[in-house]
Amino acid sequence: MNNGEKNSELRFAIIGGGMAGILSAIKLQKAGYKNYTIYEKADSLGGTWRENTYPGIACDVPSHFYCYNFEPNPEWSHACSPGQEILEYFQMVAKKYGVTENVRFGTEVSRLEYDNGSWQLETKNGDREIVDIVISASGVLHHPFYPDIPGIDSFKGDTFHTARWDHNVALAGKRIGIIGTGSSAIQIVGDLADKASKLVQFQRTAQWIMPRDNPAYTDEEKRTFRENPETMDAIRTEQAEMSEGGFSAAVVGENPGALAAIEALTLANLEDNVKDPVLREKLRPDYTAACKRLIMSANYYDAIQHPNAELVTESIQCIEPTGVRTTDGHLHEFDVLVIATGFKVDQFMRPINVVGVNGVTLEDAWIDRPSAYLSVSVPGFPNLALLNGPNGPVGNFSLIDVADIQLDYFLQLVDLIRDGRCIGFTAKKDAAENFESERVEATKKTVWVSGCNSWYLDDRGVPAVWPWSMGRFRAIMEKPDLDDFDLAS
Ligand code: NAP
Repeated sequence: MNNGEKNSELRFAIIGGGMAGILSAIKLQKAGYKNYTIYEKADSLGGTWRENTYPGIACDVPSHFYCYNFEPNPEWSHACSPGQEILEYFQMVAKKYGVTENVRFGTEVSRLEYDNGSWQLETKNGDREIVDIVISASGVLHHPFYPDIPGIDSFKGDTFHTARWDHNVALAGKRIGIIGTGSSAIQIVGDLADKASKLVQFQRTAQWIMPRDNPAYTDEEKRTFRENPETMDAIRTEQAEMSEGGFSAAVVGENPGALAAIEALTLANLEDNVKDPVLREKLRPDYTAACKRLIMSANYYDAIQHPNAELVTESIQCIEPTGVRTTDGHLHEFDVLVIATGFKVDQFMRPINVVGVNGVTLEDAWIDRPSAYLSVSVPGFPNLALLNGPNGPVGNFSLIDVADIQLDYFLQLVDLIRDGRCIGFTAKKDAAENFESERVEATKKTVWVSGCNSWYLDDRGVPAVWPWSMGRFRAIMEKPDLDDFDLAS
């Protein structure tokens, strides 16, 4: 095969068949790259929406915003639609665009080794293949975090993590305990409070909660969306402006007025909607709103005030066969114990054993902590994109947009290979280091360091996220600065 033939037939491996993996496939197709495979370890597509099926699951990013910009969906049932609908949407899009036939299900990538312009890929099943480009779309919140609570394995009732919900366990009339107060737990409490005979939520840290109505779309509204798709675009644009100009600017210290408005709204939500003064004080956070990921909920305060619900703020001492013992000596007995303690957020492509230039592994490169130039490219690991990778924009906006922007950026670099200008590209080490030190400096102005603990913070207490506005992200990602890349020929 001569170089020209190789370049017109670049081979891509996409790791993960969730939102970002499906998007990658479609964008490759649109860019004229037809030779790709999605490696998906499970037996269906959908990523986080396949894995998270807990009661009450929805996306608190509005549906007309949390969908692909080229595939608006007039059929969304709600302003913020349930998880199952979102899962079906992604699977429908994958089918419609012919992506599904390019997926290898039940195939987990275990090793990648770069060699002179291509990657040798190995799967857990023992298959070996050669590809030119790897796109890692393996998700951010993918590996459940189980807390180190003494006796956690001794519980004799049913117990599972929110991302591993066991639907064989009937919940109606059961005594249910939930550990955690993150977005997952809040949605679960909202759904289960009136179904359980008793529901106890263990809170270590109170949360600010933004009220968010979630009306169902009427048939009339859906018809309007179908007949006038521009009405969906208008909602999308409005959401993008609110999210990017308001929220994203507020949290990075660029819009103090918007941050004050968030604080006022969340405070009023608490004051107006929690009647019992003792419960209200328990639910009152002692840090600035949006320091932790802001919770959006239409029903949480109602649910936690349900006669069957109880909020426990005493610390957990241990878990015993019949329940949870708190440090006041009380044993809270349950039939079902839900672990809503979030995710290990520093894994990214791992546990895949990734070997880059000169035999350096990703484990070596990330010995201190994960990082990547503009969150996309790791020096020494050519022709590899990390979508929603380390230190990227996360928070209360759509990760679909983030992945979309990253793919447009990365594909401009891939075109260098297609056009014969290089066989490999990777961010320069000093460019990545400069970016990282500017990034760390900028985090000092963000709300995330204003005095709370959250999964945004790394082991140093530095927010492991993009610390500037989404507008800046869009602008910087518009065109790669080739001075920041090593091109190998
Ligand atoms: P999370 O936000 O990381 O929350 C974990 C919870 O577990 C926190 O309340 C934490 O308490 C608590 N916890 C951890 N270890 C504990 C221990 N040893 N003892 C007692 N409590 C403990 O996890 P999550 O709720 O699964 O949400 C993770 C992320 O998923 C969200 O921030 C969001 O990005 C995403 N998500 C999005 C949506 C959506 O609608 N878009 C819905 C769900 C999740 P502390 O606060 O004290 O640390």
